[in-house]
Amino acid sequence: MADKYDVIVVGAGPGGVTCGALLAKWGLKTLVVDKNSQVGGKAMTLSKNGFRYEYYPIWPCPGAESQIHAALKVLGIEDRVELIQPDPFGLMHYETPSGEIRTMIMRGPGHPMDPQDLFKLLGVGEADTDEVLRLFGEVALMAPHDQDLLDDVSTIEFLDRYRIPRSVYSFFATLQSEGTIEVPSDIACASEVVKIFQQLVTGGSGCYPAGGLGAMYEAIAGAAQANGSDILLETRVERIVVLNGRVGGVFTEKGAFYAPIVVSNAGIQPTVLKLVGEEHFDKSYVNYVRDLVPSLGFAGARYILNKPVLEYPVYLYFSDNTVSTTDHIIKAKSGQMPEQIYVFISTNSLFPGMAPQGKQLVHTGLSCPADPKVDPKTWLDKVEAEVARIWPDVVKHIEEREYYGSAHISALSRDSVVPGAGGECIGLGQIVGQCGKHKPSAKAPIIGLFYVGADAGSTGFFANNLAVASGMNVAKTVLQYFKTHPAKPG
Ligand SMILES: Cc1cc2nc3c(=O)[nH]c(=O)nc-3n(C[C@H](O)[C@H](O)[C@H](O)COP(=O)(O)OP(=O)(O)OC[C@H]3O[C@@H](n4cnc5c(N)ncnc54)[C@H](O)[C@@H]3O)c2cc1C
Repeated sequence: MADKYDVIVVGAGPGGVTCGALLAKWGLKTLVVDKNSQVGGKAMTLSKNGFRYEYYPIWPCPGAESQIHAALKVLGIEDRVELIQPDPFGLMHYETPSGEIRTMIMRGPGHPMDPQDLFKLLGVGEADTDEVLRLFGEVALMAPHDQDLLDDVSTIEFLDRYRIPRSVYSFFATLQSEGTIEVPSDIACASEVVKIFQQLVTGGSGCYPAGGLGAMYEAIAGAAQANGSDILLETRVERIVVLNGRVGGVFTEKGAFYAPIVVSNAGIQPTVLKLVGEEHFDKSYVNYVRDLVPSLGFAGARYILNKPVLEYPVYLYFSDNTVSTTDHIIKAKSGQMPEQIYVFISTNSLFPGMAPQGKQLVHTGLSCPADPKVDPKTWLDKVEAEVARIWPDVVKHIEEREYYGSAHISALSRDSVVPGAGGECIGLGQIVGQCGKHKPSAKAPIIGLFYVGADAGSTGFFANNLAVASGMNVAKTVLQYFKTHPAKPG
């Protein structure tokens, strides 16, 4: 391996590996370094006891016309990764105030949701039909300029503009806030919610790469290597070297590597506060970075079932009372869980080669604080009680359970350098003040330093697609920078 490169990418998560692969394709001598033994960050796929699965319940959404499809195409490897578009994708369960659990099928791409089915699920009567259609119509058809006006509006404030039944309100506020972007609905940014909803309407619920998300990111890493990039795994970057306000390379546990450009996928807060060091930045920028708010973390469970129980990949449950707010999160932290919670179960064992014959691996869980120090037990107890109530057949067939919380997420992906952060599911929270025109810049105030991934470089997408979109955007920015800023000798 060389020790001098045009660009070093710290982290091979979805954003980092996409960015590195594109820069290599465009002719830059690129090194991608990750502390883990596999690429893919939070979306890596594991092989264990005949199963292949992600650590977490991960579904790239939408199912078609996504940023992932676009990245594979730009890299010229769209034929090497099969993106399976399950149809039906899953079941949506809505519990009425009287305790009846109603069900609606979620279809794959090419099968837009029939408003009549949704109205039946949510019990929308004739008197409410016009207003509910106004909401869905305006959201589905909102022009980009009007979406941008919602950068400073929360999901709840946006929904309050419509006189809609509580069931419709909850459908939107539960599923599009906590259920998608992993933030409470009173701070979730409405422009993000509208953009992602439009993508789901056009592209369908979700897709799954054959062999797992990790296999897809390995194919992207393979493309990087085919174009001359080096991928160095099991190597933690200890320090991003900065001299006189200019990036010079990285110090790792396996030695130093030099480059005039470093792109960090390690999260903005860990990059500024730990890898570079706050002494290299203005105090006001350090304060801005410290103040950024993470998405929620996750208290999760994986069950191995002794027979396949789930027929579809994803099952969602919500009721009129599952809209979560920051107040709910604070109360849950002190042990007061809400009576009803948004809960889901999902499996990837339905896809070829993902599970031994006759078995199924099921994911479930609940959003919790991103703080790695928070014990996930309170959230897991609640989730398990709800899973037993809503999907009793799953529980009857559990032969093995594994649990995790935000500490596991932090250890796999980003260091905790700010109190309460590290174990976030997505990255920075897609909340009012951090999205659209307020999204942190991917260009750091140090010459040659950039951020990539869910934290910066793209806005208005869901998780993996957000990070991959960032990978593409930041690669373009870095290429322009590289062309216009020839490296100084030495
Ligand atoms: C419980 C859970 C459920 C989720 N569900 C979904 C879902 O349904 N759909 C969806 O699309 N997404 C989902 N996500 C989120 C999605 O996986 C993330 O948004 C995405 O992985 C973010 O990508 P990223 O590129 O920003 O970085 P990350 O995935 O965070 O990767 C960062 C990489 O940087 C590396 N790194 C960090 N520091 C260093 C260092 N010092 N040296 C070397 N390497 C370093 C890490 O090892 C890691 O590989 C879920 C996540 C969780 C935790």
